[in-house]
Amino acid sequence: MSSRFCPACGTVCPVGSAPVQLPDGAVIEATLCAHCGLCLDELATGVHTPLEHAVVAEDAGFIARAVVDALLRSGIVRTVDLAADGLELVAVFTRYAQARQAIDLAVVDIEMPRLSGLAAARMARAIEHKHELAPAALIFLSGVVCDPALRQQIQAFAPAYYINKGNLASVDELPVRLGPLVARIQAERRAR
Ligand SMILES: [Zn+2]
Repeated sequence: MSSRFCPACGTVCPVGSAPVQLPDGAVIEATLCAHCGLCLDELATGVHTPLEHAVVAEDAGFIARAVVDALLRSGIVRTVDLAADGLELVAVFTRYAQARQAIDLAVVDIEMPRLSGLAAARMARAIEHKHELAPAALIFLSGVVCDPALRQQIQAFAPAYYINKGNLASVDELPVRLGPLVARIQAERRAR
């Protein structure tokens, strides 16, 4: 089995291949990270329009600030809400839903006080469904490298992705891990 660097895991990972549909509808045999399932081929091309609303749910303030900075400074998103735990994340989704506005992107730490990221995401999906809103792309932040059990949990929230924050040398590396995922999310949303 061959190996490649996966930007989401932040490590050299074994890779496999699987058919993947590109935003333009073509199907290619793509190279996927065997840990987290990220497509490692260059899929996103061209100029991407910014996303409108994002929310960052992370109880560690310095990581939350680094993610918000990365999203705003690069012009990826126009507005960002912050949530310090899972309950606050659900409150943000509720507020947007009541205003009949969809959230485009949610970056969600899996381990948070009061309500975990996965439990909060389940409630967020229910809120979107009830209000007939398009599902936000979810990027889960995890302190551990993705294993098959975690990958399966994350895939149940599709469109959903994963970033390993456990092996960052510094928070300055976060934009490097966010970049490829957000480019892919933008390409997918444009293709809708
Ligand atoms: Zn990976």
